[in-house]
Amino acid sequence: MAHRIVILGGGTGGTMMANRLRRRYDEAEATITVVDKDDRHVYQPGLLFVPFGLADVGDIVKPRQKQLHSGIAFRESEVDRVVLAEDRVLLADGTVLPYDVLVIATGVALQPEETEGLEGPGWREHVFTFYDVPGAEQLARALEGFDGGRLVVNLVDMPIKCPVAPLEFAFLADSYFTERGMRNLVELTYVTPLDGAFTKPVASERLSALLAHKEIELVTEFAVGEVDGERGRLVSWDEREVPFDLLVTVPLHGGAAYVERSEALGDELGFVPTDPSTLQSRARPNVFALGDATNVPISKAGSVTHFEGDALTENVVRFLAGRELSAAYDGHANCFIETGFGKALLIDFNYETEPLPGRFPTTAGPLPLLRESRLNHLGKLMFQWLYWHALLPGRDIPGISSAMSASGKERCPEPV
Ligand SMILES: Cc1cc2nc3c(=O)[nH]c(=O)nc-3n(C[C@H](O)[C@H](O)[C@H](O)COP(=O)(O)OP(=O)(O)OC[C@H]3O[C@@H](n4cnc5c(N)ncnc54)[C@H](O)[C@@H]3O)c2cc1C
Repeated sequence: MAHRIVILGGGTGGTMMANRLRRRYDEAEATITVVDKDDRHVYQPGLLFVPFGLADVGDIVKPRQKQLHSGIAFRESEVDRVVLAEDRVLLADGTVLPYDVLVIATGVALQPEETEGLEGPGWREHVFTFYDVPGAEQLARALEGFDGGRLVVNLVDMPIKCPVAPLEFAFLADSYFTERGMRNLVELTYVTPLDGAFTKPVASERLSALLAHKEIELVTEFAVGEVDGERGRLVSWDEREVPFDLLVTVPLHGGAAYVERSEALGDELGFVPTDPSTLQSRARPNVFALGDATNVPISKAGSVTHFEGDALTENVVRFLAGRELSAAYDGHANCFIETGFGKALLIDFNYETEPLPGRFPTTAGPLPLLRESRLNHLGKLMFQWLYWHALLPGRDIPGISSAMSASGKERCPEPV
């Protein structure tokens, strides 16, 4: 009998896994079913550019089904719950999907309702997020009409997907208002719950310096208790206030709601406890997870999802053949960080190695690490093409290995 593989989520991780597994098995060997609640696949890194008029929604949204190779079944429905004890998924449309292997790739859910006042007065009028398509489009109109004042960029709390995206937003805002000849009319402030601009010490130091250089005020250790849209104030639990005329927020993130409804599948935030090296869930041996839906201790990012997909494809094949799993995923992550004026930084790291300066992908590589360059910016733009044409179809990307290479990385002293 053919193996039954069910993949929940048809975003970055689900699509890539389905296509990779289809290459490994023909239709007689395995049925592959992908479930998603809608048929709009968003290239999410493109959302950063929409508010500044640098990308069109038409270019970053495509039908999900078209990204799946032939021989993969697509079901458009909400997942209602997973019944681990019976190896079944129940869909909201009443369908029951039995599985031999389940892959969870349902990402995160934005939870603006979890922060007091965030969806109150001013929401979508002078309080916006660019983390979804409607928000990015509304913010584009708001920025166009902004004639000066206090623009505050805030992430409410970690974890968030692409933790550098709000920083990139602040850098691009600096560039955008400069190019419009009105930077002197805009006070830019970056407000974060972290103790620096970023989570990792060396990168954090560099990014803080860049914020200072661009005259973007950095407010740290700010735990948002309330958004007061009426008075235009961010209020922290320890009663500090940051005033704003326009607030760009990244709301709290949690796992998909069905994870909590499925007995023994998720943790208290709705993420799936997952072995960080094999990507097997802690819940059941035949349940695996990748991408933003897991609790593995590395950034929630498309690059992580991509590198995990390599290791996980191999482990699904091993599992179905009754072989030992490989502990192949090392936490590899990399990310271009737009810094405005046609430049970007690049960071590359894993569970053990924090982002360090040097060259990428090797010592002689063309891309500088943790340093602004035009080539990094072009790399970021080119990535959109690679996403649709190589990453999602499940092809290897030349020169980019799923395991992090130490080559090209300089050893840095710990900052004091
Ligand atoms: C503004 C922004 C910029 C970013 N920039 C970068 C970047 O530069 N580099 C980078 O590496 N990463 C970046 N990312 C992060 C990256 O997009 C995600 O980490 C990546 O898409 C995660 O893949 P995933 O498969 O886990 O989740 P997703 O691609 O989000 O897919 C999850 C899927 O699950 C579906 N789903 C959820 N719940 C249900 C349900 N109950 N029933 C059915 N279907 C469901 C959703 O509809 C969705 O299609 C960015 C993200 C944002 C928002």
